[in-house]
Amino acid sequence: MLQLKHVNKFYGDHHVLKDISLTIEDGEKVVIIGPSGSGKSTLIRCMNGLETITDGLILIDDIDITKKNAPIQKVRQKVAMVFQNFNLYAHKTILENLTLAPIKIKGISKKEAEKTGMEYLERVGLADKANAYPAQLSGGQQQRVAISRVLNMHPEVILFDEPTSALDPEMIQEVLEVMIDLSSNNMTMVVVTHEMGFARTVADKIIFMDDGSIVETGTPEHFFTNTQNKRAQDFLSKII
Ligand code: ADP
Ligand code: MG
Repeated sequence: MLQLKHVNKFYGDHHVLKDISLTIEDGEKVVIIGPSGSGKSTLIRCMNGLETITDGLILIDDIDITKKNAPIQKVRQKVAMVFQNFNLYAHKTILENLTLAPIKIKGISKKEAEKTGMEYLERVGLADKANAYPAQLSGGQQQRVAISRVLNMHPEVILFDEPTSALDPEMIQEVLEVMIDLSSNNMTMVVVTHEMGFARTVADKIIFMDDGSIVETGTPEHFFTNTQNKRAQDFLSKII
């Protein structure tokens, strides 16, 4: 599904991604953890072409998205992103937030986009908010809307960049529950998070990053009970 081969990225002189190679299979759930500034956001933003890389290859379904004339719009339909700060359109209703891109970018009829949009709002428990505006919703509700908006584009992969980091503690669980529900549906998910309970239950694979490199990759069992890596042990001792 998604393959990175020897990816390097510099910001000026700053080497922020160092020889990253990884493969994400169809339906796989990958959790990326690591200290602040280690390159997690940069890495997942490269996976849907939001950032360009300095060298290496990124293949999505065998299409090299790093080529100059890569069909980046198509790539973003396949590989969608949920952000830390929801990024909803403030002046559109919740349902309009869900239908805008399917209508404009995918050419789906308004009627069809609204029908599936309502189904996804139902799924995240927010059908009754269809006509509300983002500011009328709590942070947790806004993030659930952001997830349903991405689903209404029918992506193959969803990238989550610390989706619960901007939320008050009491709202974290409702968003994680939506993500856990998604994970049982064969969706391919790449999740940057500090929620270790989520990582433990949902991840097929955990990737630990430090200073621009993948330091360790393994199953949750391996990672939480067996890691020999000093930097990973230090990180876990601070976070758990
Ligand atoms: P993380 O998500 O793990 O906290 P980031 O990917 O945001 O890390 O950042 C990795 C490194 O790249 C950091 O040192 C950060 O300061 C730097 N960086 C991120 N974005 C930019 C940018 N647009 N310009 C310059 N440096 C950046
Ligand atoms: Mg980040």
